[in-house]
Amino acid sequence: MKIVVAKTAGFCMGVRRAVELALDAPSQQRQPIYTYGPLIHNPQVLGMFVERGVTVLEEIPAKASGTVLVRAHGVPPETKQQLKDAGFTVIDATCPKVVKVQSIIKSHARKNFSVIIVGDQDHPEVVSLLGFAGEKGCVVGSLAALQALPAFEQAIVVAQTTQNQILYQQVKAWAAECRSHYKVFDTICDSTERRQTEVRRLAQEVDAVVVVGGKNSGNTRRLAEIVREAGKPAFHIETEAELDGNALRPLQSVGITAGASTPTWIIKRVVRALEQIPSHRRYGIRSLLPRLMRLALLTNLYVALGAGCLCYAAMHLQRLPTSWPAVGVAMLYVLSMHILNHLTSRAEDRYNDPDRERFYRQQKIVLTVMALSAGALGLVVAFQFGALPFWTLLVMSLLGLSYNVRLLPAGVCPTCRFRRIRDLPGSKTILIALAWGVVTAGLPALSASGGQWGVGALAVFWASATAFSRTAFFDLLDIQGDRIVGKETIPILLGAERGLILLKIVLAALLVVLLAAGWSGIFSALAFVLTICPICLWAIIGRHEQRGMLAGMQLEFMVESLFVLTGLLTFVWLLAAF
Ligand code: SF4
Repeated sequence: MKIVVAKTAGFCMGVRRAVELALDAPSQQRQPIYTYGPLIHNPQVLGMFVERGVTVLEEIPAKASGTVLVRAHGVPPETKQQLKDAGFTVIDATCPKVVKVQSIIKSHARKNFSVIIVGDQDHPEVVSLLGFAGEKGCVVGSLAALQALPAFEQAIVVAQTTQNQILYQQVKAWAAECRSHYKVFDTICDSTERRQTEVRRLAQEVDAVVVVGGKNSGNTRRLAEIVREAGKPAFHIETEAELDGNALRPLQSVGITAGASTPTWIIKRVVRALEQIPSHRRYGIRSLLPRLMRLALLTNLYVALGAGCLCYAAMHLQRLPTSWPAVGVAMLYVLSMHILNHLTSRAEDRYNDPDRERFYRQQKIVLTVMALSAGALGLVVAFQFGALPFWTLLVMSLLGLSYNVRLLPAGVCPTCRFRRIRDLPGSKTILIALAWGVVTAGLPALSASGGQWGVGALAVFWASATAFSRTAFFDLLDIQGDRIVGKETIPILLGAERGLILLKIVLAALLVVLLAAGWSGIFSALAFVLTICPICLWAIIGRHEQRGMLAGMQLEFMVESLFVLTGLLTFVWLLAAF
């Protein structure tokens, strides 16, 4: 089944900002943490907030403490003041686009303009806008209501940001004709419009569309209606558990879109669940293949194969003879560390990849034995290489083992934020990359008699940067799930956009290093061939940016395959050299 994910699926800018502020609040602000009214119309996200200790404040008490987050719709100025007077610290998560409308109203109300708001009287955003208009504000929900108003001497007209475009066009046309002295502002946010235009186009391309979002979310329901109007079946679901396998199985292509209040982690779960639905049209090995791929990814056997391939390529970049034991050590180390990492980080997998979390919960004992045996076997093999490779691997293994372990006991330094290595911001992305670099490129150089330190160091940089781009890309895809569990990956520290720029800089550096080291003779000519890998990852990232391609098994498999590709390219290059 072909799965196409709409680029506009999920949080709009304003909702994303509000959710991120709410997710960061428990670790940064005075407790308890509240949102003033429900942050968004999505029961799963609201449930997740309760788990994180963020609850909804419906009434403002006379006296209180803690932090209150004002949601994206905003609040009237007097409500904000009331919250402060009660003793709360207020975090204003009002969407910048709503703030802009508030400022327009505020500045004109001061100059005695009447303020006409085209919107729904009871909508929280309209309530907040009205608060800035003071006594001169009024709300109209239709053209007839606007026409029924008296003619004001001076007035402005603004729209609720999610107002219907067609109605507002009519309002503008009438005002231009009958109240030409009114100042009319274009305040409708184009996020909803773009989402609807895209789903209309998507419905033409696929057999059916799965619409993900709260059943009580108006904008999500509208997306489902648009799909049906286009003559295609629409499946409106809140979570992957509601997917109708029988109805979806015969389909060849399925589109996925989501309302403005649907988080990426729920969309990703739906993508993964859809990938698990076996197609009617696949028989024999074709139906088995996705399951084998999934098993290879879940057990980390495919990642380990990738590490072995990277090691094989690193040896030949350095003109070292093939050492199959070194390839084995790289595979065993990566297998062991990645399994242990997933066993001890099930909290984030619960959001980013619930299937993996379930697998690790159910197979805990088998996987623990597998991880420890692989780690021990790797050390035994490395012992044959000599003292330095052995101790290097031992240190790397201890670092890996202690990554999720509390190094500072609860009683010691109660105010310390950093109790485990993983608490250090960005540590996951950097340490995984370094460990891959040392094990796949450094150990072969240390264990070979003809290894050179300078060339080895450059090979470690190449392998680390390659592993960094893989991990940083996955971190970008998992940014919301990681934020929920309070993990500080590099994309969370820098923000998604700057994280993406950093990733591209690393890929560009990889290309430059390979070309320069190949051209100067530091690396073998294999360096030129291996430039294919960063170029491929750049292409995958470009496609991800273009179409909003989300993490699914196919994407994960594709990225991991780039490591296998380094081994295949090396093998072909060696064959061609003979
Ligand atoms: S729909 Fe537009 S105005 Fe409303 S929160 Fe989202 S980005 Fe802001």
